[in-house]
Amino acid sequence: LKHFPYQNVLVLGLAKSGTATACVLSQQGLNVYANDLKTADDDEAVVRLRQQGITIVVGEHDTRLLENVDCVIKNPGIPYSNVMIEKAEQLGMPILTEIECLQYMLDENILGITGSNGKTTTTTLSHLMLKNSEQNVAVAGNIGEVAIEIAADLAENATLVLELSSFQLMGTETFKPKVAALLNLSEAHLDYHGSYESYKLAKAKLFTNQTAEDYLVYNLDDQDVVELVNTSKATLVPFSTTQICETGAYLKDDWVYFQTTPVIAVEHIRLVGEHNLANILASVAATLLLGATLAGIKQTLTTFDGVKHRLQFVGEKQGRLFYNDSKATNILATTKALQAFKQPTRLIAGGLDRGNGFEDLLPYLTRVVGLYLYGETKDKLKATGENAGIPVITTGETLDEMIKAAWCDSQAGDVILLSPACASWDQFATFEKRGDLFISTVKQL
Ligand code: ADP
Repeated sequence: LKHFPYQNVLVLGLAKSGTATACVLSQQGLNVYANDLKTADDDEAVVRLRQQGITIVVGEHDTRLLENVDCVIKNPGIPYSNVMIEKAEQLGMPILTEIECLQYMLDENILGITGSNGKTTTTTLSHLMLKNSEQNVAVAGNIGEVAIEIAADLAENATLVLELSSFQLMGTETFKPKVAALLNLSEAHLDYHGSYESYKLAKAKLFTNQTAEDYLVYNLDDQDVVELVNTSKATLVPFSTTQICETGAYLKDDWVYFQTTPVIAVEHIRLVGEHNLANILASVAATLLLGATLAGIKQTLTTFDGVKHRLQFVGEKQGRLFYNDSKATNILATTKALQAFKQPTRLIAGGLDRGNGFEDLLPYLTRVVGLYLYGETKDKLKATGENAGIPVITTGETLDEMIKAAWCDSQAGDVILLSPACASWDQFATFEKRGDLFISTVKQL
């Protein structure tokens, strides 16, 4: 931690990110205090951190802890209405997140990616493109591994690809990625941010500190993004799926281009879905700016099956293509999935009943030749399918029954898609468990 302006810090929240942050900052020689309302006093991580010399208070918030410190490093999930945060703000203390610390830890290149949708996909693609270009690269942030922990072990000259949420970005002051990518903006997390305006300002922190030597890759097709990046001092690099933009990444004659270079024919890309083309253009632009090779990018795009549970290609059996989109826990996500296919599609859907209807699916059911419905919402979905005149509608109790039914009805050339349009909690602990069952059942067919 070179020139980090604070010596005494309070880490608030001891989940995965807080525990790692406390640990790394203490190893770097800072005086670390930590506080968490929920964690138990004899929790393994608490015991370990105490052995490291960190002062920890758990089970209560004690504002007296603030007397010892110059800044608070907050878990991104903790709201600003928290008593500790309110008190720290009254005292004029900086409220940071672990992402801010990276600026003082790394001389290496950072690729920071944010947006309302597509973050994990774009982050994963970018990581793979750099890796397949024989670069030394690590990935962390909102996607899984704690960024500060990965940064602490990062090899010299490695690039760090970060998926960043608005919550993580809000707690930054000097954070300055070499390349930033802003994918899209739509209203999200308004309970946390208060308004769409302040949500956008949080996202803008991605590029606030960038200068002309840095790059900001941004979505030219998204008006809110275009307005927001107006204030940027970075070198702007647009991407677009609808227009030719020769300073960035775009589609022309069914090819992906970066500036004047043809990168790959769209037909050779394995990932499906219109929205994923935008994610691909963003990652192509961002990684080429960081020295990725065309070969590395092509290798990635011809082999990557999608992030698990997000329109993930599971495999082909006797000419049927199976896709797992278990992450589609609402109607909008399922409409995106349905638009990804030109083939006859057998849709497996259903799950937790949140009280909504499914009429909004109707316009997207044109290529659906069979509906396989289970879970609490099966009858409502069945009514929608009948309205759309779907020739085959089957209902049942369980997901694996519906997979088998779809398989029995199917013909070579069909897509069999799990995109439930509902949360999984009526029958599964998580959407991941639901997707895992789909994958294992398909493998056994
Ligand atoms: P995030 O990490 O931002 O949640 P993911 O890459 O995990 O995004 O994708 C989650 C879902 O968001 C996908 O299943 C898809 O329905 C939708 N999505 C992905 N990329 C985009 C995009 N560029 N534009 C709009 N929606 C998208």
